[in-house]
Amino acid sequence: MNKNEEYQAYTDSIVAKMNNTIKEKEVLRTKTGAIILFVTTIISIGGLISSIRKNKKINILNLQLKELNTIDPLTNLYNRRYLNEKFESIRKDKKEVSFIMIDIDYFKLYNDNYGHINGDKALIEVSKIIKSVFKDDMVFRYGGEEFSVISYKTKEELIKDVEKLRAEIYNKNIKHEYSKVSDRITLSMGLASSKLSSDDDLIKLNKIADKNLYKSKEQGRNRYTY
Ligand code: GH3
Ligand code: MG
Ligand code: MG
Repeated sequence: MNKNEEYQAYTDSIVAKMNNTIKEKEVLRTKTGAIILFVTTIISIGGLISSIRKNKKINILNLQLKELNTIDPLTNLYNRRYLNEKFESIRKDKKEVSFIMIDIDYFKLYNDNYGHINGDKALIEVSKIIKSVFKDDMVFRYGGEEFSVISYKTKEELIKDVEKLRAEIYNKNIKHEYSKVSDRITLSMGLASSKLSSDDDLIKLNKIADKNLYKSKEQGRNRYTY
């Protein structure tokens, strides 16, 4: 080998080494890239799962909060606040709607004589019966011993249900020996139906149902007025 050839072989070997190093670096870079990609994918999947879980928890909490805001804790019926909310949405429906006001007769005398705890139990029993009869409608605890129902049934169906409610309350026979109209708990009711075409109609409907309830009270209680 002459000097030139020796020199050529020497530079070839250096170039070959350099090529090898470059290739190794490229392989390493690709491997590192793949590892980084894998780790970041795992991290983002983890983040996604945890955010889905968090969202689920938030949704459940929101539902619970909504329930607390809309349900009466004693009777499990919708509360007055929700009735007002419903009024707002129904107002826009412009459909024929019925409203029933229901009031337990001489309930103060029940409380005074049987005690508040038994009074609460009676309220729960009455609520259950109202809800079972008006299972397809919206039933609210209006306040105290007063309840209300919003229904889209026909007048005939509504009267049938009101009579059914009276019969079921009678058959439940919750003793009330201090009532001035019966030997058991009874209800007075006021009904009103109307097609809602203006904003005031719902207020009018509420007023008519209230007036009719008052008439039921005046005319001897334990009855309904339509
Ligand atoms: P009326 O036949 O005219 O409706 O007479 P009433 O005694 O039912 O009506 P009044 O408004 O005088 O009394 C309602 C009573 O309802 C007063 C209170 O003792 C009772 N009451 C209201 N809210 C509750 C409650 O959450 N629990 C219990 N136990 N009693 C309640
Ligand atoms: Mg009352
Ligand atoms: Mg009453």
